[in-house]
Amino acid sequence: MINVFQGEHLSISANSTTLVASILMDMRVGILGGTFDPIHIGHLIAASSVYESLSLDSVVFMPAGDPWQKRDRELSAGHHRLEMARLAISDDARFSASDLEINRSGPTYAIDTVREWKQLNPADELFWIVGSDALSGIPSWHEWEAFVSEVTVVAVNRIGQSASVPFNYASVEMPEVRISATELRDRFTHKMDTQYLVPRKVSDYISDQGLYQA
Ligand code: ATP
Ligand code: MG
Repeated sequence: MINVFQGEHLSISANSTTLVASILMDMRVGILGGTFDPIHIGHLIAASSVYESLSLDSVVFMPAGDPWQKRDRELSAGHHRLEMARLAISDDARFSASDLEINRSGPTYAIDTVREWKQLNPADELFWIVGSDALSGIPSWHEWEAFVSEVTVVAVNRIGQSASVPFNYASVEMPEVRISATELRDRFTHKMDTQYLVPRKVSDYISDQGLYQA
């Protein structure tokens, strides 16, 4: 607890108190980027494992607006992917979901997200969380060298994937969850069981909205 403003000298509203606190306090913030089409327990366990291992203050789920490296298939609309992320984390105060990338036009570059985040929250220390498959792709990202100098990259293990990359990163072990959104889309399309693989609120949303129909 930091007592920045005390006593009768300053009277500031709750909103500005929150703003001042977030500017002055050094927060350790994890960002988990992805398409989240849909979000699943692999993402949630990864976020939880990194939160705990690195003593983070929060983890932000950041659905990509236009993941330009995934243009080979049609994505669900950004608002659906964001809403599924929001529903998945709604009972967990450690987590939040951001619309920063969904609301930005043009191809989604993580470096833009990092710069925008730091402008809004200059005191935050950022930890960019990736599975080991995404880790090996980072050198193909736009301005990747600037990106890896602005954040600590954190790789969580993903089965069958290992990487050697030209930058330093932190590793966090997580219980192996051998599922992907690709497999889940297929399960939803074929009306197979998805219990325990995605939170119930997310599967209810998917059926209400008719996502992943054949
Ligand atoms: P898709 O099959 O559509 O690529 P995905 O399951 O890989 O979906 P993404 O949204 O691409 O999900 O992943 C976002 C991030 O989460 C990536 O860094 C990815 O490596 C990581 N991730 C996804 N699933 C797992 C998992 N089961 N275990 C560990 N990390 C995961
Ligand atoms: Mg993926």
